[in-house]
Amino acid sequence: MTDAQIARLEHRRERLLDELHHLPDLMRGKVYERQRKCGRAACACASGGPRHPGLQLTVNLGGRTRTRYVRLGERAAVEAKLAAYRRLWELVDELTEVNLALFNALPVEAQEKQ
Ligand SMILES: [Zn+2]
Repeated sequence: MTDAQIARLEHRRERLLDELHHLPDLMRGKVYERQRKCGRAACACASGGPRHPGLQLTVNLGGRTRTRYVRLGERAAVEAKLAAYRRLWELVDELTEVNLALFNALPVEAQEKQ
């Protein structure tokens, strides 16, 4: 590998680390569409009528599954946090690829002698 290729990899690593350090707030989990009952006794959904479409957030933490209804006004914020979590793992994969290439080009032993 040429010095220019190594410099490009190191530059890419810097950009990835910078993005990693500036990731927005994040959260693990999945959002599902669910038909739900609204809880009002007078509503048709209480007596077998059509239910209301809604979103449910599900996440497993420490072996325990937690679920929570996502209100309409919360949807964008929840999805932004889940997207940041997915981006985190993309960044981890990209950093792994770059660092693996750099290890192959410059074994740690060689780096230490510099
Ligand atoms: Zn209802």
